[in-house]
Amino acid sequence: MRTDSGYARGSLLTVDGLGVDEVARILELTDRLAEMAAAERAKVLAGRRVALLFYESSTRTRTSFELAAKSLGATTTLVSDKSSSIEKGESLKDTGLTLRALGAECIVLRHPAGGAPFVLARTTGLPVLNAGDGMHQHPSQALLDLRTILARLGLKDKSVDEHVLEGVTVTICGDIRHSRVARSNAMLLPRLGAKVLLCGPPELLPEEARSLGGVEIVREFDAALAQSQVVMMLRIQRERLAGLEIDLADYVGRYQLNEERLRAYAPKAIVMHPGPMIRGLEIQGEVADSPQSAIEEQVSHGLDVRAALLVRALVRERRVAA
Ligand code: ASP
Repeated sequence: MRTDSGYARGSLLTVDGLGVDEVARILELTDRLAEMAAAERAKVLAGRRVALLFYESSTRTRTSFELAAKSLGATTTLVSDKSSSIEKGESLKDTGLTLRALGAECIVLRHPAGGAPFVLARTTGLPVLNAGDGMHQHPSQALLDLRTILARLGLKDKSVDEHVLEGVTVTICGDIRHSRVARSNAMLLPRLGAKVLLCGPPELLPEEARSLGGVEIVREFDAALAQSQVVMMLRIQRERLAGLEIDLADYVGRYQLNEERLRAYAPKAIVMHPGPMIRGLEIQGEVADSPQSAIEEQVSHGLDVRAALLVRALVRERRVAA
């Protein structure tokens, strides 16, 4: 069924317009599914078909959507640009229509062009889950990051509303310019009451980032850290730099999250990273492996949240047992 916007109900294309009530419903569904016994969970999407359409490489996002779908009993098929007619130049539209004709009921899409999930959702009429589109959005990442923060701060059982993250400051540091993760988090977290500080050099964090609204730019990493309960580190996206030169030694000196800095300015902060992380560049290996790091928890929450997104896409919520 299509909504007024023309996209199938259950699509998740962007966090823009994702209301706090809807976020709360998704996280409640995540909890319900996570608590189910494996056998019961395997019935939720039994016989349903999910296509994973990946035009960019991915480890965590692809695997977690796939394992989540399988744990719910769905059949999955992976179509990637390396091994399909995409390589022969087939358009996104024709690939989508082919998958629909083959019985796909939901498509998880990663694509290098911002907005591609909207095109796919409109042309196929199927629910589409955006698994990252260019430099635009990564909504499931923002939701799994939110669940990780709530769990680490002991807020998971509180009702998710506009105030749940009041008093919490989150610094997002690194290559903000090219990061769909930063964009999705910077839009979502302030809606739940968090203060978001963006940190990085002007080449990777242009002043225009202020237009995201509800965020502050703090150029000095130590100053941002000193205010933060959560710090999200981002890698430099070499594949999107397009000629931009970064002095890496200088960058590491000013923006690497290392033990010394963490101890001095944020000894209790939760450390996050969406991956892939480049140890020794934006983050020191010791920090990634420290008790402050929630990086592996992010991956586990990703599995749970993506299960909920698949169920939201394919089942009317009231039909999922409590
Ligand atoms: N895995 C994240 C993404 O797909 C972050 C990254 O690639 O650096 O956007």
